[in-house]
Amino acid sequence: MASNRLLLLPGDGIGPEIMEEVKKVIGWFNERTADTFEFDEGLVGGAAYDAHGASISEEDMAKAKAADAVIFGAVGGPKWDDVPYDVRPEAGLLRLRKDLGLFANLRPAICYPALADASSLKKDVIEGLDILIVRELTGGVYFGEPKTITDLENGQQRAIDTQVYDTYEIERIAGVAFDLARARRNKVTSMEKRNVMKSGVLWNQVVTATHDKSYKDVELEHMLADAGGMQLVRWPKQFDVIVCDNLFGDMLSDVAAMLTGSLGMLPSASLGAPDAATGKRKALYEPVHGSAPDIAGTGAANPIAMIASFAMALRYSFNMITEADMLEKAISNALDKGLRTKDIAQGDQATISTKEMGNAIVGEL
Ligand code: ATP
Ligand code: MG
Repeated sequence: MASNRLLLLPGDGIGPEIMEEVKKVIGWFNERTADTFEFDEGLVGGAAYDAHGASISEEDMAKAKAADAVIFGAVGGPKWDDVPYDVRPEAGLLRLRKDLGLFANLRPAICYPALADASSLKKDVIEGLDILIVRELTGGVYFGEPKTITDLENGQQRAIDTQVYDTYEIERIAGVAFDLARARRNKVTSMEKRNVMKSGVLWNQVVTATHDKSYKDVELEHMLADAGGMQLVRWPKQFDVIVCDNLFGDMLSDVAAMLTGSLGMLPSASLGAPDAATGKRKALYEPVHGSAPDIAGTGAANPIAMIASFAMALRYSFNMITEADMLEKAISNALDKGLRTKDIAQGDQATISTKEMGNAIVGEL
């Protein structure tokens, strides 16, 4: 029966603590539902460096490639600040993204009803918010060549970064965005800067062509990325799925994330291309936050981002939509009951530990 293979990579800092809470959730599903999970664990980041002198071992890379989904905690911390660049903790995550071909980064911005008051924005702006930013993750200006700093004859220096996008890269990220929109409110907003960038012109054309060819049933809207950033803060509920390149996606997803509050609440998914034979996508799920070394070991970490990342795995890797909805509802219910870890408590509200929050969510399930 166990046909869904997970590789858990807890990593460093609070990573192992919040992964323990995901294991409880997996355990609950394994006891209750027919689709059960088989899971293996590996080391990544500083933990892998301490054990093997690499940010991820070849053995664990092979396990990641064989798994249906990788559930990733967080990497890094002051302990590894001085390790060589090639084996720094973050290199393990970059290697996973590259070798698994994870070109689509999904960042939802959801406002849980119980936390609608906690945002710095007016309550009516974010109450009920549920949008999804789809960021291209393996191309664009972060990787384009040339990428140099050169000395000029006049004593100055010149820095060059290059934005490069080929048709196929835009087609495949647009396809992911349209597919996701179909399972949501059926609308995609594509953001670029076609008024000043050639890559924006091509982006706009290819997204439109992809739409007209295969996704006519989905509403498509184009917006300049700067105007889009403004609209995201002014009235975010006008959006459903937003698709953009690596650079704009990096910025816009952080803006969208902070509409709704704490870093400890935000999940993400990174998806690869569907396998030609099975149709399954390689995928990695991780919280948006880092390893939070300042609170590691204190039991203060909020496990919700990590657990919500597992809910994304249920939804996007295993097509377990009912179960994903259930898990998200369980999180929402725990918050409705006033349960808060320290990072999301307001004023003198009582707080609970990482483990207590995990147990409460399993209880709600
Ligand atoms: P990275 O470079 O890996 O993204 P970072 O230094 O940007 O890491 P985080 O590790 O995410 O940041 O931590 C930023 C702040 O948010 C810290 O004060 C940390 O304690 C807090 N924080 C992050 N994640 C959580 C969480 N799950 N629960 C509670 N607090 C958190
Ligand atoms: Mg950071």
